[in-house]
Amino acid sequence: MRVTPVTKGTCGSVEIARLLADFDIHSIGDSHLQNIDRMKQAGIDKKFMLLRAPMLSEAEQTITLADISLNSEISTLKALNKYSARYDRIHEVVLMIEMGDRREGVLQEMVPDYVKEILKLRHLKLAGIGTNLTCLNGVKPTAEKMAELSALADEIEGTYNLKLDIVSGGNSANYQWLQACNDPGRINHLRIGETILFGSDPLTQAGIDGFEHDAFSLQAQVIESQCKPSKPSGEIAFDAFGEVPQVKDEGLMNRAILAIGQQDVDPSGCRPLDPDLRIIGTTSDHMVIDSSKKKLKVGDIVEFQLHYRAMLRLMVSDYVTKEYIK
Ligand SMILES: *Cc1c(COP(=O)(O)O)cnc(C)c1O
Repeated sequence: MRVTPVTKGTCGSVEIARLLADFDIHSIGDSHLQNIDRMKQAGIDKKFMLLRAPMLSEAEQTITLADISLNSEISTLKALNKYSARYDRIHEVVLMIEMGDRREGVLQEMVPDYVKEILKLRHLKLAGIGTNLTCLNGVKPTAEKMAELSALADEIEGTYNLKLDIVSGGNSANYQWLQACNDPGRINHLRIGETILFGSDPLTQAGIDGFEHDAFSLQAQVIESQCKPSKPSGEIAFDAFGEVPQVKDEGLMNRAILAIGQQDVDPSGCRPLDPDLRIIGTTSDHMVIDSSKKKLKVGDIVEFQLHYRAMLRLMVSDYVTKEYIK
């Protein structure tokens, strides 16, 4: 099983890509060409896989920056072929197959038409087929679905007399399937982000034994700490995010404000390490904490345990300082 570690969750962090590049990996995967560009500029000498199908408007950069891309549209493949010819290259493509999650990929009955078209494009190489599950609709990569993908690979090879290098079974959500299966069939490649970075299994949202779960953490600073009534006072309309807040009256409360907000982090994906602290609410740039069990003062640092979805936005935010500790 070859692995493409996925760096998109870290916004293509060069520091993290450098660590991953030390392993025997198939390639580094990212969904943004800007991230791939930055990693290449930093001298990371690996094959790069573009995970999100290229925009038509970035077909040229896809050829110059990525070695291999995941695709599901003929018009895009034709544009890739045109630029690949112009740069005198052979660009590798993986045809994505829709197997139930209803995000990207062509329906199985359409596969022959697509393969025939791709084989006509002389500057593209059909490197393989792949599927992506458990993203839009949480559909599990079961043994049956993986066997279906394997069978499809055999069928394509038999019909068109070719060899598919890659049969890419999915992402971190394939961990349980991989652990349980004795015979992966034709599946020989996975694209893994979350499980490498967080040691978690997306199917259960729980940590996997033997993996590190706290490689990433967030620290935010207290900018106000005061005792206030917990119940809002006045006529209530919409809050900053279009909701009408329902607030339980908890009397007077020690409340701290942290200098971080929705613009920087998805608060549903972070939890204070100190169990005596609780997030009350978050606006664009403020996070309000119930600190009645543990008094905080201005300048104090509150540390959070993170979920993958919280890290996504943190790594993109220019307002958040990233510090790497080896
Ligand atoms: C994001 C992504 C992955 C990696 O997903 P994880 O759940 O982080 O492992 C793999 N493949 C595609 C197409 C993706 O978009």
